[in-house]
Amino acid sequence: MSKRTLNLSDKLYDYILEISLREHPLFAELRAETNRMPEAAMQISPDQGQFMGLLARLIGAKRVIEVGTFTGYSALCFAQALPYDGRVLCCDVSEEFTATARRYWQRAGLAEKIELRLAPATETIDALLSEGAAGDFDLAFIDADKENYERYFEGCLELLRPGGVILVDNVLWGGSVIDPAVDDADTKAIRALNRKLAQHAQIELSLLPIGDGLTLARKL
Ligand code: CA
Repeated sequence: MSKRTLNLSDKLYDYILEISLREHPLFAELRAETNRMPEAAMQISPDQGQFMGLLARLIGAKRVIEVGTFTGYSALCFAQALPYDGRVLCCDVSEEFTATARRYWQRAGLAEKIELRLAPATETIDALLSEGAAGDFDLAFIDADKENYERYFEGCLELLRPGGVILVDNVLWGGSVIDPAVDDADTKAIRALNRKLAQHAQIELSLLPIGDGLTLARKL
């Protein structure tokens, strides 16, 4: 028992939210609206959002790149955490989901800190690198299609300054990563990235059992 993380009951998780969550009502409204959508499970939890915002402040982040924006909750968390001249660059391909995101970014008064690029993230990352943006970013959050996770990771690693941090979401994938009966492309891609990161010479890492599993990788 002492070797493992506490198994969170629903009650204990509710306690975490009750005792530590400081969520602006507008952020909660966005979560509620997203929760009514069929894709609601793609949204991060509010405690994860708060943690990522705090992490951005801890490393003094000014420039954040997000791969996979969905309805914009994580981008709100980052934008709120950044200094006045900080910027979040959001990569997504969905006009529909990001329309909701834009609406809330406007209402929160944070829209000017967020730039959305509607294109495949691999294209956006390649364009940034060819524009000379390597080393310009402090933090990256990867939470898009799992099959491209490895490409996103390597691209974001180039975009980060030394000491910058990549956050990779869904690295436990509902527990599927250790279920031999699960062999779909998404699960295989997540397992492959996890294995690669375990040996990756350019990073230090920690895999946190927050949300669906969140890997923190610090660029050396
Ligand atoms: Ca996710």
